[in-house]
Amino acid sequence: MGPIPVVVVGVGKIARDQHLPAIAANPRFRLVAAVSRNGTVDGVPNFTGIDDYLARGPAGAIALCTPPDVRLEMALAAVAAGRDLLIEKPPASTLGEIDTIIAAARAAGTVLFATWHSRFAPGVGAARDWVAGRRLTGVEIVWREDVRRWHPGQDWIWRPGGFGVFDPGINALSILTAILPDPVLVRAATMEVPDGAATPIAARLDLAAGDVPVTADFDWRQEGTQTWDIRLTARDGTLRLSEGGARLAIDGRPVEVGAPREYPAIYERFADLIDRRESDADTEPLRIVADAGLKGRQVGAERFEP
Ligand code: NAP
Repeated sequence: MGPIPVVVVGVGKIARDQHLPAIAANPRFRLVAAVSRNGTVDGVPNFTGIDDYLARGPAGAIALCTPPDVRLEMALAAVAAGRDLLIEKPPASTLGEIDTIIAAARAAGTVLFATWHSRFAPGVGAARDWVAGRRLTGVEIVWREDVRRWHPGQDWIWRPGGFGVFDPGINALSILTAILPDPVLVRAATMEVPDGAATPIAARLDLAAGDVPVTADFDWRQEGTQTWDIRLTARDGTLRLSEGGARLAIDGRPVEVGAPREYPAIYERFADLIDRRESDADTEPLRIVADAGLKGRQVGAERFEP
């Protein structure tokens, strides 16, 4: 069996930083084309639109790396052409859209992998195991980063369907929902939306998983040291996941979890799903963000110059 041909759609930051290197390093895949309005990839045919690519390009599975608010039509076109599909997080800009993509993939018999890269961070599996044997008393998430550093020149994050600070915050929620056994419900939320933007720059969530209180503090205005921490407290100890799940400490003592390799692991999983003809599309993190929008309140914030 030869390598799986794969096509990257949306040649932007994450495609260049992670997808293209992960594909190049994985012998199960071979990049055969790229699709982007402006970006190009050397050494393969490039197309400026997915319809043109699907009509004339070499066949392959598709890795959709465009922003969430423009994913629906591209995903449906790919599935209608019978292509296996990997999509970046968040999987779509609404639950209705991702449900539509899931139903289309199921009807077409194509593989759909809605990725949550943070779930592949090296500390997440050990955190899940630690939680499994314990009675938790609380969870605190602090996810504070510098939007200018991680989203340079991107305007989609501020437009409707662009998620704002939930774009990184949903990564924390993807870890939370992978390690807690109970569904996470939104009790209250406050979202700060800058003047002139459609999406929040900061959000405070008051959540609950069963009887375990969970707080989340998402902020995009943190310069300097970046904070991506989840602290779990149980009756008999504490666990801290930091650096987005790359580091783990139990009762204050660091635990060796190995080097970060989120995207290599994502492509290993994609190959495995293709081999098994199975899909993996969990919408729970997106459901929590949607619930925060339904139950929370928006407050104004100062205009932010990106
Ligand atoms: P990006 O740099 O803006 O790249 C997305 C690319 O999609 C653009 O370069 C653009 O390329 C293409 N595109 C097609 N239609 C578009 C449209 N209507 N508006 C804007 N771009 C359009 O964004 P990114 O940071 O790579 O993020 C893409 C996805 O990856 C998001 O869902 C994000 O959450 C996820 N992600 C990002 C990071 C990160 O560190 N930035 C990390 C993990 C995951 P053309 O102009 O060439 O068409």
